[in-house]
Amino acid sequence: MTASLTDAKSAELFARAARVLPGGVNSPVRAMRSIGRDPIFVERAAGVDLLDVDGNRYVDWVCSWGPLIHGHAHPEVLAAIQDTATAGTTFGAPTALEVELAEEVARRVPSVEMLRMTSSGTEASMSAIRLARAATGRDVVVKFAGAYHGHVDGLLADAGSGLATQGIPSSPGVLPSAAAATVIVPWNDFDAVEAALREHEVAALIAEPYPANMGLVPPEEGFLARLRELTEEHGALLIFDEVISGFRVAPGGAQELSGVTPDLTVMGKILGGGLPAAAFGGPRELLERLAPVGDVYQAGTLSGNPLAVAAGLATLRLLDDDAYLRLSETTTALATGLREAAGDRPVQVVSETGLVTLFFRDRPVRDYADARDADHEAYGAWCRGLLARGVYAPPSGYEAWFVSLAHEPDHVARTVEAAAAAFEVLG
Ligand SMILES: *Cc1c(COP(=O)(O)O)cnc(C)c1O
Repeated sequence: MTASLTDAKSAELFARAARVLPGGVNSPVRAMRSIGRDPIFVERAAGVDLLDVDGNRYVDWVCSWGPLIHGHAHPEVLAAIQDTATAGTTFGAPTALEVELAEEVARRVPSVEMLRMTSSGTEASMSAIRLARAATGRDVVVKFAGAYHGHVDGLLADAGSGLATQGIPSSPGVLPSAAAATVIVPWNDFDAVEAALREHEVAALIAEPYPANMGLVPPEEGFLARLRELTEEHGALLIFDEVISGFRVAPGGAQELSGVTPDLTVMGKILGGGLPAAAFGGPRELLERLAPVGDVYQAGTLSGNPLAVAAGLATLRLLDDDAYLRLSETTTALATGLREAAGDRPVQVVSETGLVTLFFRDRPVRDYADARDADHEAYGAWCRGLLARGVYAPPSGYEAWFVSLAHEPDHVARTVEAAAAAFEVLG
């Protein structure tokens, strides 16, 4: 662990990158702007030891934002990719591997009888919503403020004021008409959900059952079950976006953990084991509305890509009951250590198996408004302090820490030590 790092090579690459890639990156959060510094360029990683191009080493708590539940370059995942690649990288035709992955997912995830694979979570949630609209013959989608379902036009909507509000575009380029078909409600607010379902002809309510894109904000007791009851009552479909929670909080995701079964499930991240794969699934009668059986169009040149499917299968097969026990223990150790490091500072440490969030706030966070009210500037300064001490935590207070099976007690200890030192500097 070093206290002062050199970043000459990262800086040089960033300058070059900024001439050919907007902001120097291919996805905004990587630019590290929200913690007020320039990005680190990665050279290589194994397990959770990450090396940047300047030779600095970090304990990695980002793990590529979720896919790497076994850490980087797991030998069995790499072998699966290498073996598969020698037989060809893509055929645009069916393979045995994709059938195996679909069977494995259907075996694990309660709501999934059939699934359709895509290359990104964005595509999967976009297609799940198309299917829900076709199945119900309705337009409106209800989503929660602060939830992320990929950069689908209609879901890039912000809430206005009020309980359940018609969306307004949260990005230029999104048509007001696309955002207007989305109604935004606050997370954990049952009355707002009820109002939205009463006032609109709702095709689907889409939720991250364990929202982790505003920091981790778990559902309150009974909330998911009430979403299930209400959507049924109003003839709307319930979609769980388990792109993060899937295969992480439990073998069958949040739906297994909560006992609440949605109509459609969106999956990604861990599903592709570090390569681009995602999917949406549900019961046969819904999924067979998709072409070529049904009339709802959905397709992809690289969907079910053999390399991604092989990586996903190897990843899932390593996830046995013992793995979830270890993941849960590591998560608890990290959360407990960070809580102790924070001492009596106004910091909320929230966790669920495989996920941890720190909110710099004196009261618990129950929705997006609360998450925004946290002191994100202080988080940024603290996070820069962690980086300087060899700990790579998510460079944004709205992103969860991703605990993996490659995190050992020593990684937790080094992280807690760095955390305490970084808190000291904050005062
Ligand atoms: C990451 C994420 C997505 C989008 O997946 P991409 O593969 O980045 O398109 C969708 N939903 C949730 C909950 C996510 O965390």
